Amino acid sequence: MSEMAEKEITPATPSHFIRNIIREDLKAGKNDGRVHTRFPPEPNGYLHIGHAKSICLNFGMAEEFGGKCNLRFDDTNPEKEEVEYVESIKEDVRWLGFDWEDREYYASDYFDRLYEFAIELIKNGKAYVDHLTPEQIREYRGTLTEPGKNSPYRDRTVEENLYLFEKMKRGEFEEGECVLRAKIDMASPNINMRDPALYRIKKAHHHRTGDKWVVYPMYDFAHALSDAIEHITHSLCTLEFEDHRPLYNWCIENVSAPSRPVQIEFARLNLSYTVLSKRKLLQLVREKHVEGWNDPRMPTISGFRRRGYTPESIRDFSDRIGVAKKDSIVDLSLLEFCLREDLNKRAQRCMAVLRPLKVVIENYPGDKVEILDAVNNPEDPSMGVRKVPFAREIYIERGDFMEDPPKKFFRLYPGNEVRLRYAYFITCKEVIKDENGEIVELRCTYDPASRGGNSPDGRKVRGTIHWVSAAHAVDAEVRLYDNLFLKEDPDDVEEGKTFLDYINPNSLEIVYAKAEPMLGNAKPGDNFQFERMGYFVADRKNYTSEKPVFNRSVTLRDTWAKISKK
Ligand code: ATP
Ligand code: MG
Repeated sequence: MSEMAEKEITPATPSHFIRNIIREDLKAGKNDGRVHTRFPPEPNGYLHIGHAKSICLNFGMAEEFGGKCNLRFDDTNPEKEEVEYVESIKEDVRWLGFDWEDREYYASDYFDRLYEFAIELIKNGKAYVDHLTPEQIREYRGTLTEPGKNSPYRDRTVEENLYLFEKMKRGEFEEGECVLRAKIDMASPNINMRDPALYRIKKAHHHRTGDKWVVYPMYDFAHALSDAIEHITHSLCTLEFEDHRPLYNWCIENVSAPSRPVQIEFARLNLSYTVLSKRKLLQLVREKHVEGWNDPRMPTISGFRRRGYTPESIRDFSDRIGVAKKDSIVDLSLLEFCLREDLNKRAQRCMAVLRPLKVVIENYPGDKVEILDAVNNPEDPSMGVRKVPFAREIYIERGDFMEDPPKKFFRLYPGNEVRLRYAYFITCKEVIKDENGEIVELRCTYDPASRGGNSPDGRKVRGTIHWVSAAHAVDAEVRLYDNLFLKEDPDDVEEGKTFLDYINPNSLEIVYAKAEPMLGNAKPGDNFQFERMGYFVADRKNYTSEKPVFNRSVTLRDTWAKISKK
């Protein structure tokens, strides 16, 4: 594990400022002692590990304080594929172990009420229909150092605005012809307060409201008032919305909002060797750099699920990274650490040879098969033992044999003795090669007195290797995944490049393994530790007993940290 991850790991569950704020609010008797949060995804992509942080925080705080958390789809942007995204989001939140009960809401459910709130603003002289073009609006907005200018349409009368907004709603203007803007302050030092747009025209079909609307509320307006409609107490969002908070409050304060939620910002999760922007993830999918949203290399929740991550490991990760006010990049190795911690406790151990080399045990009878006991999980004796067949011909890992080994190589080489895990001591007698000089087989002998892998006379062997019986082995396709990006921060692009230039060309290697028989009867999604090789999962998409496919979830140790330091 890298230094960065080690630092992150202790203490296991630090408290954080949001928990402290909620505690204080409860102590002060705010919100009648209620805690009500929401997770508000926009259904324009699959959820990623950053969203998992937000889900764990929102649902976690509600759970901890006996409150509620809503699932609200922020569907104010009509788009085509939204239904697929809605379904995937629900599946992912549920899989993480959270329950929104009957509180599945959509901002689009509030379109009528939001429209009424807009009318209210107009009536109070706080919103106007602006006919500047989008370019002019940009020009009039000013810059960080210069104030903006009032639109010539800013002083339209209430009656005129009501009439024009109604016309917008009826579809009598074209997209971009006009917008409804809040009348706040074109000289505000906060650009978000310079008469932000509240409604725009979009003549698009909406996945829930169909063609009913051609005006759609802008994010800030819809979000703040959806929170208020749902009586949210603590509206937790990421730091980029900090500058929007005055607008959030303005929207709530200037209409007859049914409640007064408070927005609190926290740092978004950034992960090393990973991109976490839906736009970039969509590009990876569309341009087929990966198999799809749930490709095991994707940082989506569905990708992690297929990779073999467990909900527990992701929740643990989310606890450990905590919640801060300052952006940082979390080391991917921390997430991997959390997965190892979880799987170490409960993954079934078994043996699979990823790059097989045949071994014939010359003094073992050709027709004999022994059934040996193997421990299912040394961390959990209650998981018991299983039966593993042993016979004259076995496979071992190619990498466990060297014809001409360096000094500290304790595994198999000519003349050396090693322990076959749970089986016997064997000694290498002969190396058989094909006409190209490739090693194709080893000839060994075994010591019948070493059954179970125990030394018969106190003699020591330094190496223990795994194996499978050739006659009983199951053929399995094993997908060895590595990081999708080679650069620690793929968002930090050099001139003339894009994040795609940092894709790891070797992020997937497929090997054809020989696996112990039980791996032919797994269920898709079952986690295993292939002894000495890592944690693997029966692929949820492609695994069948006829053609077992496994994905490597994570290696047993953090190999990447070492490689990347070179
Ligand atoms: P992206 O920026 O990745 O495209 P988004 O912020 O547009 O994502 P939303 O669907 O709007 O995605 O996000 C839903 C919720 O998840 C929001 O409250 C948002 O703040 C939070 N969220 C999104 N990305 C992260 C992240 N990396 N870390 C923590 N929370 C996040
Ligand atoms: Mg967003």
